[in-house]
Amino acid sequence: MTFEALQLLPAIVEAVREQGYEQPTPIQAEAIPAVLAGHDVLAGAQTGTGKTAAFTLPMLHLLATRGEPPKRGQFRPIRALVLTPTRELAAQVEESVKAYGKHLKLKSAVVFGGVGLNPQIEKLVKGVDILVATPGRLLDLADQGHVDLSKVEILVLDEADRMLDMGFIHDVRKVLALLPERKQSLLFSATFSDEIKALAQSLLHDPKHIQV
Ligand code: AMP
Repeated sequence: MTFEALQLLPAIVEAVREQGYEQPTPIQAEAIPAVLAGHDVLAGAQTGTGKTAAFTLPMLHLLATRGEPPKRGQFRPIRALVLTPTRELAAQVEESVKAYGKHLKLKSAVVFGGVGLNPQIEKLVKGVDILVATPGRLLDLADQGHVDLSKVEILVLDEADRMLDMGFIHDVRKVLALLPERKQSLLFSATFSDEIKALAQSLLHDPKHIQV
């Protein structure tokens, strides 16, 4: 299996090469075609399996190939949202988005708590295609009218089990209520408690199940 065989945009394959990756990991080989085909995905994967690229690469491909490119000066709505449990993971995921998307014209930002709101607001005001966020800070920004999630096409819940373990279920549910009904949702979790299964059940439509 090669990255070319997964039919990702050459600009994305090029960025992956620059990371030094030679071939997709098992989760990537399974998840990438499923996401590109438009399916919802329920994936069981631990950290270290390459799960970040498994959702980021096809997300970038879909965003870059779908719809009109924004005109100069036109506001860019948030088209993809990645929720993570911690600020460290949020920062890491956004770095991956930037690295894999370096040859594309998509913009990303990361927001998390414990730091000032203003720099994050300034980024959002300029418009981003992809937002990586922890749930609490995202809700604060949404309550203040700084994020509009009504145009989100792709939602990723990364490390969903940790998100629930940390007590974020109510925040996650509040965020989900701000998203359009029609979207593609990807849920990644290392473990599957009844609570995760219930969340998956309410969020995902006929998902592809992937376990590595
Ligand atoms: P993750 O599971 O997403 O935290 O990724 C774990 C590590 O694997 C990260 O350091 C990635 O840069 C690296 N990685 C992801 N995909 C590949 C790949 N296809 N080949 C080699 N390394 C990879």
